[in-house]
Amino acid sequence: MVDLLAQYADAAGPSVVDHLKQLALPLKGLRVVHVNSTRVGGGVAEILAKLVPLKQELGIDATWEVISGDDGFFRTTKTFHNALQGNTVSPTSQELRHYEEVNSENAGRMRELLESANIVFVHDPQPAPLLDQVPKRRGKWIWRCHIDVSRRYQPVWDYLSPFLKEYDASIFSLAAFAQNLPHTQYLIPPSIDPISEKNMPLEARDVQCVQEKFGIDPSREMILQVSRYDRFKDPVGVIQAYRLARRFSPGLQLVLAGGGADDDPEAAEVIAETQEAADGDPDIRVLLLPPDAHLTINALQRAADIVLQKSTREGFGLTVSEAMWKGKPVIGGDTGGIRLQIIDSHTGYLVSTPEGAALRIRFLLHHRKRLEEMGTRARDFVRDNFLLTRHLREYLTVMLSLADEGKDRIELS
Ligand code: UDP
Repeated sequence: MVDLLAQYADAAGPSVVDHLKQLALPLKGLRVVHVNSTRVGGGVAEILAKLVPLKQELGIDATWEVISGDDGFFRTTKTFHNALQGNTVSPTSQELRHYEEVNSENAGRMRELLESANIVFVHDPQPAPLLDQVPKRRGKWIWRCHIDVSRRYQPVWDYLSPFLKEYDASIFSLAAFAQNLPHTQYLIPPSIDPISEKNMPLEARDVQCVQEKFGIDPSREMILQVSRYDRFKDPVGVIQAYRLARRFSPGLQLVLAGGGADDDPEAAEVIAETQEAADGDPDIRVLLLPPDAHLTINALQRAADIVLQKSTREGFGLTVSEAMWKGKPVIGGDTGGIRLQIIDSHTGYLVSTPEGAALRIRFLLHHRKRLEEMGTRARDFVRDNFLLTRHLREYLTVMLSLADEGKDRIELS
């Protein structure tokens, strides 16, 4: 049990872990439930897979539940996702009814747990109506929003907000996403796990094996984007940037590495669009990876000269910190949580167009020293701000303040 925390002491420093133990003392034995809509694929699952065992190790009775739904349900929730990130789309009233029914079925299945829990974290819009279905709840409920809702499509927000208003608190990743809600809103950016297969140090030969497996020539430069195939991640824009940059670096290779997520029915279309844009170019690899390809992604991030995350909307973008942790400069879309991680021209570059991305790729590939210095600053910045230990500390603080709500004084350390 204690081993897990000891490993974090190595990565983040022993005082960080001591602080976590101290904060968790008053929370020992508390029943805490996290609910989301997929066990694999995407950043939320990635974080919960580590956060929940760590809470358990700190003595908190934490569990992770996943709601189930059919294709129609996930099509509707994908429409929510798109609308909350700015597309002018709404589900039909029949689809909304089905969305509520599926949540009601899930609430029935988990009723005992949800009623008795001291604290429930509900992640993103998919399970948001659960609270409405648990009138006898005992604990505090928190809605955790992981997506960029700063330019949300109003009709969809108007539909969802009555469900959200019932919560005791909400958490957004950054100030720009906070909403007009009648409860306390906490701002907590996500994090990466430094000891996971995705981020742990690798031997050079492990990286070479992955290069060989995918036919990547290690003697030529390579740029990479790791992302679910989702239009907001702009894989086609990455291909355009690569084509422009290749004029100045003729040996340049591009790897797009991704897969779908169980709750994302649009992935197949986006993969087809991406392959069409790649147009059979032998130096572009469009990889479809299984959800547990963590070591492969780790190796690809280490093999890359530069990593791109050219999203046009992004709640946070774990892939940005993942690459920065490996000492890579990231060229990222000037949007959402990417702005928290990339300090422009310091830990990476923020761009808005394929042309802008190409210009930065060209600059870095022709100034290797600058590329390496930027990578070193990027790693330091992630160590100080975006490791799981900081994230857990902030969750514990929210739990303490909610568990003690009403008290005049809340002791945090
Ligand atoms: N990821 C993965 N396999 C893939 C694509 C992405 O394991 O094929 C991981 C990626 O390394 C990151 C997470 O899924 O840890 C994606 O999180 P992010 O915040 O970047 O984007 P989201 O998918 O949540 O929009």
